[in-house]
Amino acid sequence: MALGDRLDRLVNIDIGGRGIERLYEAARAHAGGALAMAAAAKLAAVPEGGVVLLTTGSVSRAWVSAEIGENDGPAGIAAVCRALALARRAIPVVVAEAALLPGIGGILRAAGLSLVTLEQARRTAMPGGRLAVAVLRDFPLEEAAAQAATGPLLDELAPALAFSAERVGRNAKGIYHNMRGVDFGMGRARIDHLFDAALARGIPSVAVGDGGNEIGMGLVAEAVAAHVPFGARCACGCGGGLGAVSRTDVLMTAAVSNWGCTAIVAALAALLRDPALLHTPELEERLLLRGTELGLINSVQGIVDPNVDGIPLSTHKAVVELCRQLVLSELAR
Ligand SMILES: [Zn+2]
Repeated sequence: MALGDRLDRLVNIDIGGRGIERLYEAARAHAGGALAMAAAAKLAAVPEGGVVLLTTGSVSRAWVSAEIGENDGPAGIAAVCRALALARRAIPVVVAEAALLPGIGGILRAAGLSLVTLEQARRTAMPGGRLAVAVLRDFPLEEAAAQAATGPLLDELAPALAFSAERVGRNAKGIYHNMRGVDFGMGRARIDHLFDAALARGIPSVAVGDGGNEIGMGLVAEAVAAHVPFGARCACGCGGGLGAVSRTDVLMTAAVSNWGCTAIVAALAALLRDPALLHTPELEERLLLRGTELGLINSVQGIVDPNVDGIPLSTHKAVVELCRQLVLSELAR
């Protein structure tokens, strides 16, 4: 078995019992090859100094407060941004709700990235100016404002790649659902429209998801409807299922979205033969503990702790270590 398939299988073990293995099979069949490697190839194709548009963040308790975000997604995006900055000197621009940007920004900083404006980021291309950076941008919560903001933002950024992790998208009825099939669109930036527009412009795109309700899952809509609870029929009465309609070029499924990001970074390190790009258990721990300081919640148990999706911190570190060793042993051969 090739390295990409080993990484895929490792991060698609259905530890949460949510049907991810069936979504993986559908995504793998669509891609015709290993998902982690297909996604890594998109990252590797970013030109030196290119802008990458990324999104993550889930407002999972908006009926309490729109400032409460979850800890699956930001750590994974941070690992991807770090690898893009090191490998391609890329300028990652991370888009989310204004309310979630402080938390996401704090995780990016903990991953080694300096938070700057886009104008400042472009100066890192000067000789001797090497600096791993990230840019934060907010995005409208309202449908019409989101539609209006999409074209100008894509014109301004001219991204070489669009990358989404654990970012909920609307279903065929235009409703955003959580994993219990409940409408939780309130307080949520309509970033799925931005990704639809990026796809329409031919901008390469990658999405990571673990449930079926995220951007990218439109690629495996039939499998989401068939195998995910509330996939065919939600609990909100909209008449649809929780499956997101937005598609991307590559969909990386994973039992936990952070794991999908880890596997993509590992595949990139293998592709470019650069172990310095690899995510590490030490950094994973630092990012998840930083998340507790920033108030990010473990959304399964509804508490601030480093146990993403209800799975203990030690397991997340172990998955990162296994991905890392798979690549290191491959590179040593
Ligand atoms: Zn519904």
